[in-house]
Amino acid sequence: MDVDKNKYKVWKLPNWLLVHWIINPGLAFNELVLGQRIPKVSLIDKQSDAPLMERQYVPCPHCNTIHNGLLWSKKNAFGNWFGYVCPSCHNIIPCLWNITSILLLTITFPIWGWFKTSLKNKWLRNRIERLQDVSGNELPTAQKTSWLKMGLLYAAFMFCVMALPDIIRGKATYTDIGIQVIIWLVAGLLFGGLMQLILGQSKSKNE
Ligand SMILES: [Zn+2]
Repeated sequence: MDVDKNKYKVWKLPNWLLVHWIINPGLAFNELVLGQRIPKVSLIDKQSDAPLMERQYVPCPHCNTIHNGLLWSKKNAFGNWFGYVCPSCHNIIPCLWNITSILLLTITFPIWGWFKTSLKNKWLRNRIERLQDVSGNELPTAQKTSWLKMGLLYAAFMFCVMALPDIIRGKATYTDIGIQVIIWLVAGLLFGGLMQLILGQSKSKNE
């Protein structure tokens, strides 16, 4: 599809944010478990002064509709296992795959390959229903997004994933637990700070 290059900056490979999404092995967890995906092509409005998060658009290659990227924020940021569903034509907008995800999916293909079509059909129906819900609701803004809260939630979540199993099994000492708390707290604050820097930045600082 043709994009108005005066209005939009096109984000696709080899944009470093997208490259990072592909090579960071930790993000396989976000893709395979949480269903967080990144579209292969994003458009950034060059003319708007709004924070980056509010200037992101996702074009659908099937019907050429340009959608507000915030349609896939909050709850809809999760569960996009097969990609983003276009709210206009209900086709799937292609997304990137993380290398580790591809590897894991290939190895486990004999297990899930049998159910792929039925899983996908069920998932698609569910997504279409959810998209109808969100289009009527107010979309979030960068100003209303608490990056600190997001970072702390990430920290709590990672702590549960990484440290809880050992604690439950009684394998972790107080020092281990303390170290894990510090690691994930720092990682969470860095994550929140980075998100604020990237998604909250406005045009003046970005271009
Ligand atoms: Zn479409």
